Amino acid sequence: MKLEILKQAVMDSRDGITISEMRGDENPLIFVNPAFEQLTGYAFEEITEIDCRYLQNDDREQAGIEVVRRAIAAGEYCLVTLRNYRRDGSMFWNELSLSPIFDNQGAVTNFIGIQKDVTARVLLEEELIGKTRTLENTAENLAALAMRDGLTGIYNRRFFDAQLQIQEKVAPRTQAALTLLMIDVDHFKEFNTVYGHPGGDTALRSVAHTLDQSFTRASDFVARYGGEEFAILSTGLTLDNARRFADALCARIRSLRIPHAGAPSGFLTISVGYAVQTYLDKDQPSTLVERADKALYLAKAEGRDRSSTLPQ
Ligand code: GH3
Ligand code: MG
Ligand code: MG
Repeated sequence: MKLEILKQAVMDSRDGITISEMRGDENPLIFVNPAFEQLTGYAFEEITEIDCRYLQNDDREQAGIEVVRRAIAAGEYCLVTLRNYRRDGSMFWNELSLSPIFDNQGAVTNFIGIQKDVTARVLLEEELIGKTRTLENTAENLAALAMRDGLTGIYNRRFFDAQLQIQEKVAPRTQAALTLLMIDVDHFKEFNTVYGHPGGDTALRSVAHTLDQSFTRASDFVARYGGEEFAILSTGLTLDNARRFADALCARIRSLRIPHAGAPSGFLTISVGYAVQTYLDKDQPSTLVERADKALYLAKAEGRDRSSTLPQ
């Protein structure tokens, strides 16, 4: 190929092309093409014979600069994106590809630099990263909101249903028993009548908070199942453990001593129905909710402020 054609390619390139020369520790430019002049605002005469550090102004704390320094010292290729400054002081992101030229003895004589203004791309990337972060935060907040009950802050029915479904799938594999406790506040309609709906809301928050504090195992959780009904899902309890747990819950709510003029005891109480189920056969249909619900009915019928389970 004719040298003239190669020269034409370099002079007409839309990318800035530079050639520098190794002179000891210095690496001054000996050639720049018109695209480089246009990119930086510097004329060829102004910048030849000097090191091209001037392109960084005082902005030398850039990881890319260290990469360039090392590549020049080692006589190796590098590709970096640097913050560079035009003659008028304006900043642009310069994607610089630097390739060494060797002499017959294998010593580096020159570096060829190809420079692209990638400011638009970098700004777009930064904007996208920012937007992605905002979206991630929003998604996390939404996901957390979707799991929580607005009044009490504990898990909601939707979360409970999903968890139960998951736990029932896992249980046959781990052979762990699942325990469900269904909790219903006693005489709550009357409570609202006496203390008003806002008073009822405050009481529900106290009950929810107390239930939420009543277990330590990470696998256990309480959810607001309905209006004044709560559900607790637990794993690995024996029927005896489950009864003790249910009785302890009744005692804790009783000991809150929330006045309830409409209740026989004078205080707000709960009733608990519980059921324990082992999942030895994965196709066995779950009757956990149904049995805990019936047991709750039983606790109500037996006089409230107590726990109950169906006969085995
Ligand atoms: P029982 O002892 O048989 O459970 O009697 P109860 O009055 O508690 O029974 P019922 O389920 O008929 O009444 C529940 C009441 O709970 C009715 C409803 O007004 C009230 N309730 C449900 N959700 C809320 C709520 O978010 N805030 C308040 N303040 N009251 C609620
Ligand atoms: Mg109820
Ligand atoms: Mg009730």
